[in-house]
Amino acid sequence: MAKKTYDAVVLGGGPGGYVCAIRLAQLGLKTACVEEDEVGGVCLNWGCVPSKALISTAHLYEKAATASEVGIQVDGIRIDAAVMQDWKNKIVKKLTGGVRTLFKANGVDLIEGRGRLASASIISVQTRSGEAIEVLGTKGVVVASGSETIEIPGFKFDGQRILGAKEAVSLRAVPKRLCVIGGGVIGLELGMVYQKLGSELTVVELTSDLLPGTDRDCVKVVERRLKKLGATVFTKAKAEGFDTKPDGAVAVRVTTEGGPQTIECDVVLVVGSVNSSNSVRLTEIARNVGTPAYLLDDAAGLAQPDDLARRGAIEDVDRAERAGARAPAAGEQRHRPLPEDGLGLVFAVGPGQGV
Ligand SMILES: Cc1cc2nc3c(=O)[nH]c(=O)nc-3n(C[C@H](O)[C@H](O)[C@H](O)COP(=O)(O)OP(=O)(O)OC[C@H]3O[C@@H](n4cnc5c(N)ncnc54)[C@H](O)[C@@H]3O)c2cc1C
Repeated sequence: MAKKTYDAVVLGGGPGGYVCAIRLAQLGLKTACVEEDEVGGVCLNWGCVPSKALISTAHLYEKAATASEVGIQVDGIRIDAAVMQDWKNKIVKKLTGGVRTLFKANGVDLIEGRGRLASASIISVQTRSGEAIEVLGTKGVVVASGSETIEIPGFKFDGQRILGAKEAVSLRAVPKRLCVIGGGVIGLELGMVYQKLGSELTVVELTSDLLPGTDRDCVKVVERRLKKLGATVFTKAKAEGFDTKPDGAVAVRVTTEGGPQTIECDVVLVVGSVNSSNSVRLTEIARNVGTPAYLLDDAAGLAQPDDLARRGAIEDVDRAERAGARAPAAGEQRHRPLPEDGLGLVFAVGPGQGV
């Protein structure tokens, strides 16, 4: 098997990983970043950036549709979702191209392939061209593999009717009726994009409130707006499964406090993700390292390796496994010195995705 040796290897080229890799290179470490998909991760490719582009289009559309109220007549307004997507894709391409340029400018080697930890200092990679290589990080390995989409029971993604967030930011037609399962931030922001562009929206949320964990006064504002735009919202409601109707429409079966409901729609968006630490073997390897692992959470500004090594030291790997929940406590330890033997094993977690 081919072997490559670096000072530091970063697994994952999302906002956690690419910033970290660039900074490590700037600090003088020979650095590689292993990425199986496109650099930029969820955020640039199908998360923050694409969703905000779509939100800005929906906002503009809403403004144009109501412009006559302030004396501006806009006739024949209609949305061309395909053009909207092409525009959004150009933005994404420009930004991911920017990351590639930054890698080159700072001397970070991009290794395109799927990696997993072979040990605390080696990442084994299956490259896109089918080659198997071992990449050694003599001074440290950073795991910034983010999260993976999960399905919920009864709703298998089919790319047509039952979609995850990744597909939902790329729809080339506005669904007539959209059912969003999961009334958190991502579900509501994507739901409201299509609602403003003309979809009839229904939201199904398991807990008693939309936007769980958000200040109640803020939730009320969003809820009022949703309903004003015509949405139907079910809270304390569980989506159990769906039936496909002869015309291709979907009938979602929901259990609510008031009894069973059926929601007819054309597209169902299911939002859910889980930390990818298991699939890259982080949990398994970290348990056996025996030395402190370092936590990087992106609530306090993504991967700054010189800083993260100081702020992120956590006592033992067991606690690292609960890192998402413990991030604020780890942040308090920011003045710990960088260990002389290098970074060690570092891992990054996205917000709200405790291991
Ligand atoms: C629709 C949507 C909207 C969002 N909006 C916002 C927002 O407005 N603001 C905000 O702060 N956050 C937002 N987020 C969340 C944000 O996208 C994540 O917090 C952020 O991307 C996490 O960064 P990361 O680098 O930890 O992980 P990711 O962005 O998930 O990057 C991980 C990278 O690792 C790669 N990878 C994973 N496993 C492997 C492997 N085995 N081998 C090689 N490569 C691998 C992946 O391909 C990916 O590129 C949004 C998310 C979504 C879905």
